[in-house]
Amino acid sequence: MIHKFIGRVLGLKKRHGGGRVVIPLKRHGIRRNRLPSFALKTTDKLQEAGFEAYIVGGAVRDLLLGREPKDFDVATSATPEEVHKVFRRSRIIGRRFRLVHVLYGEEVVEVSTFRGSGEAVTDDAGRIIRDNTWGSQEDDARRRDFTVNALFYDPSREEIIDYHGGVADVEKKRMAMIGVPSVRYREDPVRMLRAVRLAAKLGLTIDPHTRKPFHELAPLLQNVPSSRLFDEMLKLLFSGHSWACLMQLRDEGLHHGFFPLLDKMMSTPRGELFLRTALENTDRRIREDKPVSAGYVFASLLWLEVLDNWDKRKAAGEKPMPALFAAIDEVEAVQEQKLAIPRRYGTAMKEIWMLQPRFEQRAGARPFRLLESPRFRAGYDFLCLRAISGEIDQELADWWTRFQHADNAEREAMLVRAPAAEGPKKRRRRSSGSSRRDGADGGSTGGTA
Ligand code: ATP
Ligand code: MG
Repeated sequence: MIHKFIGRVLGLKKRHGGGRVVIPLKRHGIRRNRLPSFALKTTDKLQEAGFEAYIVGGAVRDLLLGREPKDFDVATSATPEEVHKVFRRSRIIGRRFRLVHVLYGEEVVEVSTFRGSGEAVTDDAGRIIRDNTWGSQEDDARRRDFTVNALFYDPSREEIIDYHGGVADVEKKRMAMIGVPSVRYREDPVRMLRAVRLAAKLGLTIDPHTRKPFHELAPLLQNVPSSRLFDEMLKLLFSGHSWACLMQLRDEGLHHGFFPLLDKMMSTPRGELFLRTALENTDRRIREDKPVSAGYVFASLLWLEVLDNWDKRKAAGEKPMPALFAAIDEVEAVQEQKLAIPRRYGTAMKEIWMLQPRFEQRAGARPFRLLESPRFRAGYDFLCLRAISGEIDQELADWWTRFQHADNAEREAMLVRAPAAEGPKKRRRRSSGSSRRDGADGGSTGGTA
């Protein structure tokens, strides 16, 4: 239905080149009541105070595409100070771009003042480092990245204002940069990553002119502060389309500054299978609205690095456990600089890795203790991933699948019978030595049950 409305919009004469086109409700079909009350309250109150205020950016694009917007941003003619005066529960934030967060319980609406086309402060490479000049709605549209991201929705009139043919591009599933693409990427190289992420997530095709400079300008990503790259990486990994995004980044040659390990991981079938399984699992969970752990995703991205390092140390004669810990420390130190993984994710990632050798121990009280670990679930999921990619025996993962769902008597029995019933197990033989046999007769092993 929405396509029909948009289809008619295509007939409008003034499409590209920055002219203001008003698209009425009967053409776009987005009713005011599709928006949550906190978003409506924000635009209504600003308008009542005499300012212009619109829902803008990704939310309008997503509504046109029939998707649930993730967040609702507002653009207004009011300055940050004026916005702050209208909303008691609000705060002014940001330096590079000053804007206002208006708070409604858990919800936050980001309100930004129309950006002007005046001089922004740039560094030697042309990258914008500060931009706080205010302007008109038209100026603001021109400063946005893609035509589909430059749409303004006025909830009180139920109209969309379109300066760059964004509505037509939504209909054509086309992702096109506003202005001269190479200039816009020099201003902000992250726009290249955004193009790929949004296109993969929304099923849009990147326009050839918009794509063309990628190859030449990819090295500019090295200039971007690592914290900003990390934010973009999180958005990409948790977009529900992370695998498709990464593949497209690689095809466009944009992954070097962003995810330098990708080439290495993809250079072996096992590495590729591992990464693909991890990311497709994550994508599926996100699309099913299930929680995902960032620690698990980072643990997956960097595991082959750890394995490599661990294997080398073992080959050099180091003992397995200290070798693993040393490998983890080394990989972590390198990644801290490259990826700037914040501590809260880094800790979970390390815990998942350090649990892995404990899954090998299926004797005595140890499996029971492992079950009680707060990270058991993530560690177990990770173990399954290793099994799927052929790094370890599937049998080990299956054992843990059964063990966690069994009752206590069954668990005891598993401990007892595992070595005899399942034939020779190279790795397990050692750990299931004499103490295992003790339990074989008594039926009770460490009393953890
Ligand atoms: P998502 O669905 O990931 O939130 P989004 O397009 O809404 O996608 P945001 O980061 O929330 O992305 O940005 C909101 C809006 O701000 C965008 O739609 C776009 O208009 C503008 N914007 C964001 N980043 C840039 C940028 N780097 N350059 C120009 N405009 C940008
Ligand atoms: Mg958004």
